[in-house]
Formats: sequence, C-alpha cells, structure tokens
Amino acid sequence: MHIFAIANQKGGVGKTTTAVNLAAALAAQGQRTLLIDLDPQGNATMGSGVDKRSLSRSVYHVLLELAAIGETRTRSPSGAYDVLPANRDLAGAEVEMVDLERREMRLKSALIERVGDYDFVLIDCPPSLSMLTLNGLCAAHGVIIPMQCEYYALEGLSDLVNTIKKVHANLNRDLKIIGLLRVMFDPRSTLSTQVSAQLEDHFGDKVFRTIVPRNVRLAEAPSHGVPGVLYDKNAKGAQAYLAFADELIARVKTWYE
Ligand code: ATP
Ligand code: MG
Repeated sequence: MHIFAIANQKGGVGKTTTAVNLAAALAAQGQRTLLIDLDPQGNATMGSGVDKRSLSRSVYHVLLELAAIGETRTRSPSGAYDVLPANRDLAGAEVEMVDLERREMRLKSALIERVGDYDFVLIDCPPSLSMLTLNGLCAAHGVIIPMQCEYYALEGLSDLVNTIKKVHANLNRDLKIIGLLRVMFDPRSTLSTQVSAQLEDHFGDKVFRTIVPRNVRLAEAPSHGVPGVLYDKNAKGAQAYLAFADELIARVKTWYE
C-alpha cells in the first residue's frame, strides 16, 4: 500500500484537483484506491460526488478515535474508489486534539488496520502546515507537490521542503518527496516556461514528466461531483491526469526493481 500526501501550503494550487483526478485515474487502471479528504473545506469529498453536508461520520471522527476507517469510508458514486470524507467538523479537530498524546500520528494509526485494503491511499491536505497536514505527512510514505509555474511558487516551495525534512528527521523516516507536478500550466506564458525549466534544473527527476495544462473542463467537473478524468475523458486536462497516473504507477514499480 502506497500512501501519498498531496500537499502544498499555498492555497488554490491544484491539490484537490490532483487528488481527485489521480484517485479516479488510478481506480480506472484497476488500482484499489482510497482518497482521504483532510481539508475542512471538503472539496475532495464534493468533487467525488459525496455530499459533505449529510455525513454521519467523517475523517474528524477517525482522527478523534470516535470511529474507524472501515465504518467511515464511503464509495464515490462517480469513480471506482473509496472516500474518507470531510466537512467543517474537521476544523474543530485541531483544537480538540491538543491534549491528546501522539496527536500527529492519529491518521497513521487509523490506517494501519487497513493496510491490506488498498494499493494507493491519497491524502488531500489543506492549504496550511497545520496539525491536519502534519497528520497527513506522518501517515504518508511520500509527498506529491502540485505547483503552478509562477514567480512566487519557488519561494513557497522551500518552506514546504523544510517542513518535509523536519518531519522526516523527527517523526516519519519513511517520508520522501515523490515529485513535483506542474499544474494549470500555460505553455504560451514565457514565465511559466522559465519557472518550469528552473524547476527541472533544481529538482531534476523529482519533477514529474507529465504536465497538467490549464483546462476549463477540469474546473467544471467538481460542480457536477465528478472527477475531471471521468467528466470529459478526452479533454486535455483529463488526458494529462490519466498520463500522470501511468507515470506514478511506473515510478512506484522502479522502487522494487
Ligand atoms: P485549496 O488550497 O483551497 O485546497 P487546492 O490547492 O486544492 O485549493 P484546487 O481546488 O484543486 O486547489 O484548484 C483551485 C481552483 O483551480 C479550482 O477552482 C479548480 O477547479 C481550478 N483548477 C485546478 N486545476 C486546474 C487546471 N489544470 N485547469 C483549470 N482549472 C484548474
Ligand atoms: Mg483543496
């Protein structure tokens, strides 16, 4: 079971779009996949066709040990993957966890019971380096970092890389950066192309070869509660996420060679 956190403390950079589409694309390849929504905004939940307003249990209950993953997960009605859903309740979890022991390990502990159930577990992190994100990073084997190729993108990246290093050193020796994924890419923008080249220079093969273009069909899909890769499979954005799933599966395979 590969557990990957999709993280970037910057808001609106394409984390949820990546998490939802990757989950649906992996599932379409026959991979048993769980998508964990670790953001009180509940966007990955809604984007998977699960109504965040009518949850009897959510990841909040799992983090507070009020429920197990087995009784909280639900099947996405749109894609062939499971969802551990979230809603606003999760915003309270941070405060309620303050007095708990090993509070950053709550998600990791809950996942141990489910080791045999999935090939891939994807964790959609909130736009912060909070206790929720820390739970994601402690539970994960690797981090996938979606980023836009903008001027300020590199600046934010060093904070995230430092956090990942600290978590690796102190809390989770398994954690590594799987790769940086360029998203919302506009090939006509000189700046995008320059930043993209800088990323390759700096991070080498930690930069995924797949580039996700800016594509309106990907942005429309969530309002229908359907992942972009299923909403319009032939759109450029969907094709990119399908290719990304292939690239990730191939990359994971090389670890065992
Ligand atoms: P937050 O930090 O709030 O959780 P996020 O990092 O999860 O945000 P998304 O919600 O995935 O980011 O994307 C932000 C917005 O950009 C959304 O409206 C989404 O539909 C849109 N978007 C994401 N990727 C693309 C793309 N490749 N092309 C066009 N629009 C996109
Ligand atoms: Mg999000």
